Amino acid sequence: MEITLSRPDITQAERDAVLEVLQTPNLSLGPKLPEFERVMTQYIGSRYAVAVNSGTSALHLCIRAIGLKPGDEVITTPFSFIASSNCILFEGGKPVFVDIHPETWNIDPERIEAAITPRTRAILPVDVFGQVADMPKIRQIADKNGLRVIEDSCEAIGASLNGKMAGTFGDAGVFGFYPNKQITTGEGGMIVTNDDQIRDLAVSMRSQGRGSGSGWLAHERLGYNYRLSDINCAIGIAQIKRVDEILSRRRTSASYYLARLRDEKRISTQKPLPGSQVSWFVMVVRLSDDYSAADRDRILVNLRQQGIGCSNYFPAIHLQPFYAQEFGYRRGQFPICEALCDRTVALPFHGLLREEEVDFACDAFRRLL
Ligand SMILES: *Cc1c(COP(=O)(O)O)cnc(C)c1O
Repeated sequence: MEITLSRPDITQAERDAVLEVLQTPNLSLGPKLPEFERVMTQYIGSRYAVAVNSGTSALHLCIRAIGLKPGDEVITTPFSFIASSNCILFEGGKPVFVDIHPETWNIDPERIEAAITPRTRAILPVDVFGQVADMPKIRQIADKNGLRVIEDSCEAIGASLNGKMAGTFGDAGVFGFYPNKQITTGEGGMIVTNDDQIRDLAVSMRSQGRGSGSGWLAHERLGYNYRLSDINCAIGIAQIKRVDEILSRRRTSASYYLARLRDEKRISTQKPLPGSQVSWFVMVVRLSDDYSAADRDRILVNLRQQGIGCSNYFPAIHLQPFYAQEFGYRRGQFPICEALCDRTVALPFHGLLREEEVDFACDAFRRLL
């Protein structure tokens, strides 16, 4: 048996939508772009949505839109995919890491205020693995200290906390549509915001800094080519129309795993906050402290030998060599994050898993434990 780590949920609707665009001359900046943005604002409940070519591009434009300057500090989590922190480096900012909460695996709000300095400009929390960070507390701390908030919801589309959607808690929220995400456009990303200035700057900067209505070769500011083609947007529209079905299938896959791993004392899982609705992104379990990082690595190698896709989501960002070199971060600074990073196992996870595949993966995993 071969079980892939992740798999996009693509149907005839997405294939038809792509072919429909290919029958028109509008492969980019056509009607599918505003339509994708419209269905996103409807789904998320934000005033604006700005589609771009990746989640990383979306984060970069948010960092620029809040006017981050070289040397400015942004408080963020070391337990994430590296893009949530790299976007700060793009503008010469300094990522200031704050350790995570041992149960939610998200940035620990109780530790944030101690990390604020006169150079702090923003907080960039991540809704890691589809569970919303403690955004109400983070928002409160940010307001008290005059900081902007960019919510990295790349892994959390459709998640919510107390009925409020992931991506809507900060000044801007960001989604990613790489094929391993819940919703995919092949490559793609989206900024959601209620802020006119962030929206206007993002629209301008994604397309070479053009102004609104001032012409194709009038560039008002430094911009990029972060546009998302109409082909990608058409896939996104079809995916958003199916989002409830896609997320519900992923919930079913998660329930297969949870039923089989519930009584397993040698592992633990991420604990959502009260009032949290999870959008299942991955199936990551944490080995108990009896296991070392080397034990975990051996388990991953053995799972792969049996055709079971798996990964070590995530290695700590502050220990990536270029972060350690540039900012002097070292092991021991964020012990809760490091202990988790050494012991995570991401098991195969997507919405099209069959129960017998989950049986096969869980049996193999428990034998290795
Ligand atoms: C996937 C992801 C991103 C970046 O998305 P891309 O579309 O791959 O650029 C950013 N942050 C987090 C937390 C992610 O998981």
